[in-house]
Amino acid sequence: MHDLREWTHDPHRTVDDTPFGGGPGMVMSPEPWGEAIDAVTAGGLAGAQLVVPTPAGVPFAQPMAAEFAQAEHLVFACGRYEGIDARFVEHARGLMPVHEVSIGDYVLAGGEPAVLVMVEAICRLVPGVLGNAESAPDDSFGAGAGPMAGLVEGPAYTRPRVWRGLGVPEVLLSGNHAAIARWRRDEALRQTVRNRPDLAARLVRDGLDDRDRQVLSDAGFAVSHEDVAN
Ligand code: SAH
Repeated sequence: MHDLREWTHDPHRTVDDTPFGGGPGMVMSPEPWGEAIDAVTAGGLAGAQLVVPTPAGVPFAQPMAAEFAQAEHLVFACGRYEGIDARFVEHARGLMPVHEVSIGDYVLAGGEPAVLVMVEAICRLVPGVLGNAESAPDDSFGAGAGPMAGLVEGPAYTRPRVWRGLGVPEVLLSGNHAAIARWRRDEALRQTVRNRPDLAARLVRDGLDDRDRQVLSDAGFAVSHEDVAN
């Protein structure tokens, strides 16, 4: 972490100024940002990519996390106030790949929590970080052709078998791995229909097996045959 004020040269260590064109709020000055990026990427940061959190950016999602997990160096530039003078990103694009990224459709006061979110999502995809390497593909938004591709995960259970009068689904105790895998997929489909109809709509286009279609239609999600064929 770096303190942007290290790259200021006035007694108040100013990093912002009023916006050209008027309007409320303050804009971060390009000067300290330019010096900061020069200093941070100078020497030994070959292959650095710059990530600029902004609500106006491309939505952050699992595929982007997977891409960033392959990067050699990521530098995150956290804005405050109304954001950073646009010339900073324009200039940086001449130096390295730049990604303007939003973590969701809401406005935070600063980029720091957005970067924490991204770092958490990225680091768990770096080999060796997760205790169980199998874990990531089985999670919500699991990659590629995995069982969770395009789905959010259903419920999980651990001991005790009965807790406050509540049991766990029998199939999970059956030792029948195929049945368990099928149950997990059924639950993931149901959960996706419940909470993420936007994702469910995309699944239909990607093609589903007969059981998938049955679960979706039982959950009240209309699956048309043309959609499946397409
Ligand atoms: N004026 C900007 C909002 C600035 S919010 C606009 O309307 O688009 C201040 C800072 O918070 C931004 O520079 C960015 O770093 C961070 N931020 C706010 N919301 C964010 C989001 N949804 N995703 C990523 N960063 C965000």
